[in-house]
Amino acid sequence: MKSAVGGQAGSYTTNPFDLFEAFFGPSMGGFPGMDGSGFGMPRRSTVTKGEDLRYDMTLEFSAAIFGTEKEFELSHLETCEVCDGTGAKVGSKMRICSTCGGRGQVMRTEQTPFGMFSQVSVCPNCGGNGEMISEFCRKCSGAGRIRVKKDIKVKIPPGVSKGSILRVAGEGDAGPKGGPPGDLYVYLDIEEIPEIQREGINLSSTVSISYLDAILGTIVKAKTVEGTTELQIPPGTQPGDVLVLARKGAPKLNRPSIRGDHLFTIKVSIPKRVSTKERELLEELASLVNTPVNRTKTRPKVQQPAQTTESESGSITQKPDESEVQNDLWKQLKDFAGSVANGALKWFKDNL
Ligand SMILES: [Zn+2]
Ligand SMILES: [Zn+2]
Repeated sequence: MKSAVGGQAGSYTTNPFDLFEAFFGPSMGGFPGMDGSGFGMPRRSTVTKGEDLRYDMTLEFSAAIFGTEKEFELSHLETCEVCDGTGAKVGSKMRICSTCGGRGQVMRTEQTPFGMFSQVSVCPNCGGNGEMISEFCRKCSGAGRIRVKKDIKVKIPPGVSKGSILRVAGEGDAGPKGGPPGDLYVYLDIEEIPEIQREGINLSSTVSISYLDAILGTIVKAKTVEGTTELQIPPGTQPGDVLVLARKGAPKLNRPSIRGDHLFTIKVSIPKRVSTKERELLEELASLVNTPVNRTKTRPKVQQPAQTTESESGSITQKPDESEVQNDLWKQLKDFAGSVANGALKWFKDNL
């Protein structure tokens, strides 16, 4: 049975099928694509899974948080239903491959410096089937698959984020020759909005308030993913303070009972210009709260009666209650001076 392929000295002589059996055993059990019928015989089609597909989708900011349903048109390959993926016209007969004579493989012999080598490979003509389609299916022109557009509906769970991938099983390309389809992978991107930033399950925003509102406290309207809400700014809020609306963030993916917070960072705006009236009021305010050392440095024009009348006010550590006392003293002095003046005037009127 052995056939001499070479013929020269040192030539390698073998029957390729024996060689194959020596490697894998005669049964070929478990070898992918093998069905036990053995080499050299027309094989049944190997089952090959179709390609996975990728589809890119951009979601609105709130849709990613609350979840949504999306429908889109996908172009993929489906098994031709006319020929059931075989590619052959229904009722037509297969013909034996002329290249391999029905074996499915071809033997190639090569001359190398070490002699002649024989190599077995899958028949390039029939792809290893050993037979050829004599008449192609008209629907798919023999491909066994046809490209179709299909509306795909996907349910986006709450809490997805940029880079999340959804798998839609079985919506990839159909496999060749009726093989099972691959899967569709939907890659998600999330639209950004200027008002709210997202970091994982937490959301953050910046709220600008006036310095007066920061001091006095106020209620501002703030945008959340659930709509506009009123945000309570407590009196004495500092720039950079963070106010938290608990459980107004994004839900945790696949665990929607866990929800993040919405954090509002407070920005306090200081006016660059104030009106004359505002300035007067602010200076009056400053005279109330500023210490003299600060005032003389920043606002030298401001006068205070207690300072001008009392020599004792040279003391740097003047306290508010002290200045009150001094103010009272000044008032008393004025009243006293006024009463003296009035008394003198009365005396002149009465006696002249
Ligand atoms: Zn077909
Ligand atoms: Zn062939």
